[in-house]
Amino acid sequence: MRKIVLAGNWKMHKTQAESLEFVQAFLPQLEPTPAERTVVLCVPFTNLGILAEKLKGTRVNLGAQNVHWQDQGAYTGEVSGPMLTEIPVQYVVIGHSERREYFGETDETVNLRLKAAQKHGLIPILCVGETEQQRVNGETESHIRSQLDRDLVGIDQSQLVIAYEPIWAIGTGKTCDSKEANRVIGLIRSQLSNQDVPIQYGGSVKPDNIDEIMAQSEIDGVLVGGASLDAPGFARIVNYSV
Ligand code: 13P
Repeated sequence: MRKIVLAGNWKMHKTQAESLEFVQAFLPQLEPTPAERTVVLCVPFTNLGILAEKLKGTRVNLGAQNVHWQDQGAYTGEVSGPMLTEIPVQYVVIGHSERREYFGETDETVNLRLKAAQKHGLIPILCVGETEQQRVNGETESHIRSQLDRDLVGIDQSQLVIAYEPIWAIGTGKTCDSKEANRVIGLIRSQLSNQDVPIQYGGSVKPDNIDEIMAQSEIDGVLVGGASLDAPGFARIVNYSV
């Protein structure tokens, strides 16, 4: 049975004080859920230390939003695998479309970061997805295939989560139709050698569409941006009903 991974990606939101407020409100609202549901909060680097303490002994895992491929060195502004695992952090988002678009990440650097994450025992959440223009041009499948081909070279698929995030659905309120997301995720799975890789959907996931999204047979979880910033809202998402 494939694992279900429900992850929040806070992006560049919340100070340490705000992250503590979130956790205080969020933890009591978490219902005891089936063991196959993994909950992850991917937060800014500055909040990892304080949240690691608060989440110790709970069922919430901690994730970072990037990792460099070297263990140390002259790479101003970057953070390495050993720095994350010491905290400890269990997951790391890699190749988010915002990193690819605004910070020059390429499939090559994404691949290097994935390898580094796995070398240090971090589980990467690899993000792939098409732009609106690529979708209109009928290039969705070929674009995602090309991303997977390049990003996954030399990657151990038994220690991996993939997030399908159509870029046009991120932060826009335009959710990809859940059946269409299911179809694309099925295509992604058909390209993987390991059929147990959890594949998430991401893009305008909200408390009011989570049940429909999670009812789809190929969708193994969600990567939630804006709606993960609100404790009751993210608790509702994690506590989705089938
Ligand atoms: P939104 O949920 O805000 O659309 O963001 C999705 C996302 O980019 C998660 O990584």
